[in-house]
Amino acid sequence: MYMPILAADLVRQVKLAIQSLYSAQEVEAIAYLLVEMSTGATRMDCHLGKEVEEPKDWEHILTRLAEQEPWQYVLGKGWFRDRIFGLNSHTLIPRPETEELVDLVLGKISSTHSPCRILDVGTGSGCIAISLALEAAHAQVTAWEISPDAQKQAMQNAKSLGADLAIELQDVFQWSTRSDSETWDIIVSNPPYVMFQEAAQMERHVTEFEPGLALFVPDANPLIFYQVLESMASRHLKRAGWMLVEINQALGKETKALFENERWKNVELKQDFHGKDRFVIAQKDI
Ligand code: GLN
Repeated sequence: MYMPILAADLVRQVKLAIQSLYSAQEVEAIAYLLVEMSTGATRMDCHLGKEVEEPKDWEHILTRLAEQEPWQYVLGKGWFRDRIFGLNSHTLIPRPETEELVDLVLGKISSTHSPCRILDVGTGSGCIAISLALEAAHAQVTAWEISPDAQKQAMQNAKSLGADLAIELQDVFQWSTRSDSETWDIIVSNPPYVMFQEAAQMERHVTEFEPGLALFVPDANPLIFYQVLESMASRHLKRAGWMLVEINQALGKETKALFENERWKNVELKQDFHGKDRFVIAQKDI
């Protein structure tokens, strides 16, 4: 049975559920976004007194929000570069910094030959790889992911967004020991880079709800992924190809130093929009 309710009342209910958890500004933004994404009613509709059907499992949604679960997991979707990506508990919530990584990759594509073969290592929801497949002309994108549940989600996202790319179940540590002759023009990655000892200073909604497999470095050596990536990219990038990685802000110099050898040139440490060390890019010199 259709049970109409004022969209503005739904907004009020969300605000009530989360008001003690976030800043007033965040509460406002999340409440309108959530109501729009679950009913289609915009902020303007709410102000104009629009009636909508109460979303399915609304009480349960409110409970989950009150328990500090990020709205992206509650709704099973989030934004990345103006597109909606389906998310599950095995995929990170795409970050705005990572949108900048896609811009950095796009900036390198014009200077390479077409078709441009791109590999994304550890794709998660597929946000980097799918954005590149949709936005880069002549890109042939392959994405690797170690978690089958994340890979499934990435494949669904590629389908719903109409992107043409290969999304493979692959462990970079395993693959890098193979003597494969495949080569790419660009290798990009946002690997797990948070150290376990940093967890204590992180927000609870991140440590409690986001997948540890995607967040934390599984080793006492915090650069382990970058060492493997540097080594495989130095063998599997074409001449003058580019490697672009997102990094831990506390390890900028150390991560950059991995690329300061005869195999690379034009090595740069770049900052994100917060001014934090967030990316290392390097061009293959052999
Ligand atoms: N940027 C994420 C965070 O700060 C971490 C992403 C990652 O480990 N690759 O939580």
